[in-house]
Amino acid sequence: MTDGQDGRDGRALARAYLEQQRKLGTDGVVLPGAATSALDTPSMTPGASPGITRPRMSFPSPGITDGPAGDVPMPLPGISYDPSTGDLFTKDPIREAANLAAVAALIKDCKKCRLCETRTNTVPGEGADDARLMVVGEGPGRTEDETGRPFVGQAGELLTKILAAIQLPREQVYICNIVKCRPPENRVPQFDEISSCLPYLWRQIELVRPKVILAMGGTAAQSLLDAKQALGAMRNRVHRFRGIPVVVTYHPAALLRNPNWKKPTWDDVRFARRLLDA
Ligand code: URA
Ligand code: SF4
Repeated sequence: MTDGQDGRDGRALARAYLEQQRKLGTDGVVLPGAATSALDTPSMTPGASPGITRPRMSFPSPGITDGPAGDVPMPLPGISYDPSTGDLFTKDPIREAANLAAVAALIKDCKKCRLCETRTNTVPGEGADDARLMVVGEGPGRTEDETGRPFVGQAGELLTKILAAIQLPREQVYICNIVKCRPPENRVPQFDEISSCLPYLWRQIELVRPKVILAMGGTAAQSLLDAKQALGAMRNRVHRFRGIPVVVTYHPAALLRNPNWKKPTWDDVRFARRLLDA
């Protein structure tokens, strides 16, 4: 794990930031404070209001003020994680799985951790196999365990709305989780469960080859980036997993409990949208 920035050199940081803005073709530099202050809390509901000309980075969501302040600045680089591809001389069925269906078939029979004992169904993930955005959550909840599908409960409904707000129909995205079996009572997955399950996700990422990964919640972000930082410290950075940009944001279930996090989440998914469009 490397930290891609030198926190003590403000000038280098500013230079990297400005260079990033230039590469992204930003018309003018907008400071983060100024960029967000004019925005109201978004409702996450798509639907264009008529009669307004929208700049490139605005989103048709009621409550969002249009104009230059709608341009969300690109965050600085963050953590870069590149897990080793393993031993060249051992045949690993996960690494050899030819497609997502083959990965799902391996998951279906998996007994690599104790979560296999309490699951009803495995929840491998679903969506477009060539998705440009991959969403990674923590683990299946009750409805997911019952149906075998990711993000179909209340948090899932909110995720679908969040995706719609950045013009991404759910079907165009690949949605999955760090662990593929439900932890009892929705407890946080334990370290050994996560490390047993991660190779499936790594292979899924390899097969989908998304342009951007959206990690939702602390568990997803920490597991994907092999980091220990709190979610708040990991937001607002463009991290990388094997070179693929990773945007970190709140988990939709957390947003249901704390609506104050909707606004920052809105900012985060707009970073993700911007990276997709770059
Ligand atoms: N929460 C998650 O992290 N994943 C799901 O699939 C559903 C809820
Ligand atoms: Fe296997 Fe992952 Fe399920 Fe554990 S959580 S049994 S590692 S699929």
